Amino acid sequence: MATSRVPGTQGRFLFDFYGADDAPGIFGQRGNRCYRDSPGILGVNDWASWVSTAHLPPPVVAMGQCACNRDITLDELCNIYKAQKRSKCETFLPALNATFKTYGMNSCLRKAHFLAQVGHESGELTYVAETLPKGKKEADVYDGYKGRGLLQITYKKNYQAYGKVVNHDFTDDHRVDLEDPKWATDSAGNYWTTHNNVDLNGYADKNDLLAVTARVNGGYNGFADRLTHLKRGFTVLKVRACPTVKIGKEDYVEFAKSDVYANDVYSFGWGCWNDPKGGKAGVKPQLPADRKAGYARYLEFRALQLKLPVAQQPTKKHYGFTVKEMDALAKEGVK
Ligand SMILES: [Zn+2]
Repeated sequence: MATSRVPGTQGRFLFDFYGADDAPGIFGQRGNRCYRDSPGILGVNDWASWVSTAHLPPPVVAMGQCACNRDITLDELCNIYKAQKRSKCETFLPALNATFKTYGMNSCLRKAHFLAQVGHESGELTYVAETLPKGKKEADVYDGYKGRGLLQITYKKNYQAYGKVVNHDFTDDHRVDLEDPKWATDSAGNYWTTHNNVDLNGYADKNDLLAVTARVNGGYNGFADRLTHLKRGFTVLKVRACPTVKIGKEDYVEFAKSDVYANDVYSFGWGCWNDPKGGKAGVKPQLPADRKAGYARYLEFRALQLKLPVAQQPTKKHYGFTVKEMDALAKEGVK
């Protein structure tokens, strides 16, 4: 409590919510977590203006150094989000670096994975709000709260839950506040570490792109684009030269070693996204070996599920397919 940098109720709330400090560096994790509630003492704007008025030299980045435990630079961000204008990258850079600190993305590998997902979901920072199909109004979708932020928060209850965490009202006319670069980025970090009670940093540490994608997307839409961004991130943030993070030579861990292998629906999905008959886009090229592996694993789960009492067997649709349709696709595609 004594080290909380925001006085009063708000500081206590943030301290209680976030708990222990676990990151070194200027102001540490807790300091960063608090200053996103700017304006105020050590708010984002204060910090930025303090830096500019104090004429501090920019952080020194040694050549060849990976992006562990430091901010990423504007050049690095521009080189990962190649299609984006430099000015847009510049707008988001402070928010991204603040978000890395706030949500424990301290390693080069975690940063690369977060930027890969955000790169795909936001069109390299172009979209901070969902574009609705022609003729549809926001009132028609997700009880009036369409996707906003770099990883697209939807539904009023999720807007409210996030608002509670950062002590900001995002309801009614304030919905659009989530499009502000600071909130758009911070909300993505919050999603990254808390959505469905999963911290995606853990999957990033294992270089498990399938698991991260399945958790962010639900399936594997845009998988090839996410992978393109990830590989770029590996190069630009020098992940393979990292002295602490060790990943294999492969781009990401294969299906059989991924966390999705432990999940019937995600296994079916991997088969389906690799199956021309599945009608899904995003995995390029679709590989017969991956199709068969995904479906085979799904059918293993099904064999066990079919031994359960009927009342306990799955009945939910997934990816637009009934259980019966999933079974038929898998049996056909596993051959
Ligand atoms: Zn590193």
